Amino acid sequence: MTELEKEKIISDVKKLIRDVPDFPKPGIIFKDIMPFLSDNRTFKNTIKYLASRYKDKNISKVIGIEARGFIIAAPLALEIGAGFVPVRKKGKLPYKTISVTYDLEYGTDTLQIHEDAVKKGENVIIVDDVLATGGTAKAVCELTKKLGGNVSEILMLIELEFLKGREKLKDYELFSLIKY
Ligand code: AMP
Repeated sequence: MTELEKEKIISDVKKLIRDVPDFPKPGIIFKDIMPFLSDNRTFKNTIKYLASRYKDKNISKVIGIEARGFIIAAPLALEIGAGFVPVRKKGKLPYKTISVTYDLEYGTDTLQIHEDAVKKGENVIIVDDVLATGGTAKAVCELTKKLGGNVSEILMLIELEFLKGREKLKDYELFSLIKY
């Protein structure tokens, strides 16, 4: 894929991200990726572009973060020949899990992964739609490491740079397609 083709994909994706003000609460501008997901050509080309970053990187698993991360992680996993692994909110995964609890603005949240989802030494990519404060992605990195996995890269469709999530993740490789 040429640089020109990549730039075209990024500009196509940008046009398909919808700002929804005051969702889910006043003051938040929600980055809605649904118009992007419903555009077959742009969604497909984006997955191809993202997959091209991981050729010859020996990635075993692509972890998607509930819920919109699943939608990007699953086709990416298929495209690069890796397995798909969900990280979910507490109480949703059926088999034996390990957990991580992390701080939110008010209170805490707990995420879980199946204990057999990543094997020791496997290279893993962690995927979500939006990087905000970085707390969620960092928690998923911790889950991955607890299982002995290697975080090859954190991959975000959108990065909200003003929230400085990247600083919280400076121990990791981080790639985002679009920055605001
Ligand atoms: P954080 O842990 O602060 O990086 O928050 C990341 C999670 O919240 C991701 O799963 C995002 O999908 C979601 N999120 C945070 N802010 C936004 C936003 N402005 N628009 C859409 N999703 C968001």
